[in-house]
Amino acid sequence: MPPMAYVIIGNSAAGIAAAERIRRYDREKPVIIITDEQYSAYSRCLTSYYLAGQLTERDMYLRPADFYDRLGIDLKRRQKVVAVDQEKKVVVTDKGQSISYTKLLVAAGASPKVPVIPGINSRGVYQLRTLDDAKKIAMDAGEGKNAVILGGGLVSLKAAAALWQRKMQVTVLVSSNQVMSQTLDQTAAGFVESKLKEMGITVKKQTRAMLVENRNNRVTGVRLAGGEFFPADIVVVGKGVRPNTGFFLGTDLVNEAGAPLRVNRYQQTADQDIYAAGDVALTYDLVQEDYTYNAIWPNAVEQGAVAGENMAGISCEYAGSISMNSAVFGGLSVIAAGITRPGSGLQVLEEENPRAGTYKKLVFAENRLVGYILVGDTARAGLYTGLIKSRKKLTNPDSLLEKPRRFLHINSHLGTVLNVN
Ligand SMILES: Cc1cc2nc3c(=O)[nH]c(=O)nc-3n(C[C@H](O)[C@H](O)[C@H](O)COP(=O)(O)OP(=O)(O)OC[C@H]3O[C@@H](n4cnc5c(N)ncnc54)[C@H](O)[C@@H]3O)c2cc1C
Repeated sequence: MPPMAYVIIGNSAAGIAAAERIRRYDREKPVIIITDEQYSAYSRCLTSYYLAGQLTERDMYLRPADFYDRLGIDLKRRQKVVAVDQEKKVVVTDKGQSISYTKLLVAAGASPKVPVIPGINSRGVYQLRTLDDAKKIAMDAGEGKNAVILGGGLVSLKAAAALWQRKMQVTVLVSSNQVMSQTLDQTAAGFVESKLKEMGITVKKQTRAMLVENRNNRVTGVRLAGGEFFPADIVVVGKGVRPNTGFFLGTDLVNEAGAPLRVNRYQQTADQDIYAAGDVALTYDLVQEDYTYNAIWPNAVEQGAVAGENMAGISCEYAGSISMNSAVFGGLSVIAAGITRPGSGLQVLEEENPRAGTYKKLVFAENRLVGYILVGDTARAGLYTGLIKSRKKLTNPDSLLEKPRRFLHINSHLGTVLNVN
């Protein structure tokens, strides 16, 4: 039998948190991290700031250069895991290496979805996920050139802002009727759209890209279903992500391409020696009280730490995640967490001040805060996030809004109104 070894697929938020937690309890047994990238662990959240030219590569790194040596971690770079043999407990890489594990953590994250549009593989069409992606886009970007962004989610808008910073002419093509439709309500999205317009970024909503046009296989622009054409020197596609679980496809862990790994509250999959954390996994959501896909950095770190602790033999239960997104567009800060577009049975308090450029929305379930949106003034985000996580019932929910309070809108279909001034 091979000696005990912890193997981690993924060298990012979840993988690093797990390795550090394992080392807290076990300084002896081998810890092996496998990554298909060439870099030491870096912050994926900062790739758009690198693209904007605001950060250098050095700024991106999460840990000092001696991190892996100090913790006795064997980092295997540029090796893509192509299969996992659960019977033999072996991970197989594209370099032909077979690496035995006793406990395996899958922290392989997710990859951008690529929509099926003719011409999408033209040169000059990119996704923004990795540092290498950011480097390639940066090489192609240039003042005065046209950039078209396909998608209106957080990553798309961050890419748009980065290219705007590089003085490009930026157009964002959104299929829904607002930006950040998974995260914001229409009011908050309106603030963001106005800010983008003020910056000189064009947002076109309810569009459907039909064709990526090219000349000699080099992108020239995007044609919409209605015939409208947007010239582009580069196109960045941001249409969401799908978990990197291909190496499990066809096993009892993953029965469908791109499906996330299911875990219990210990971040353990149906195979008791295989754990999963971060963007690769479906995890327990505190406010939904169900398993859902909350692919954000802090959740990946927390889940990785929980997985690492359990792998090292210390029982540790995951408290649960909440969805949370934050961004700053041209000085306008926006944070949204938990349930932001409530269905029936939930109560909403809203406060909108167009002159000050602020908007607050608090969502409650039976006097428990379950979600919020803050635009313009995000000072209370920490307080609200803490309250959501605490699951505390509040005796006076409306006190959470700062004075003077003015309720411009109460979600009428919700029935219950907590307080109206
Ligand atoms: C541009 C951008 C901006 C973002 N901004 C924010 C933000 O502001 N706030 C926030 O909370 N989140 C943000 N996110 C999301 C956040 O980056 C992710 O939630 C987080 O990186 C997930 O961490 P992870 O460890 O699960 O996976 P990842 O960071 O995706 O890392 C996956 C790791 O697995 C490796 N890997 C994958 N497949 C294989 C394989 N087959 N073999 C070997 N290695 C493999 C990769 O090389 C990598 O090391 C942003 C993401 C992007 C792209």
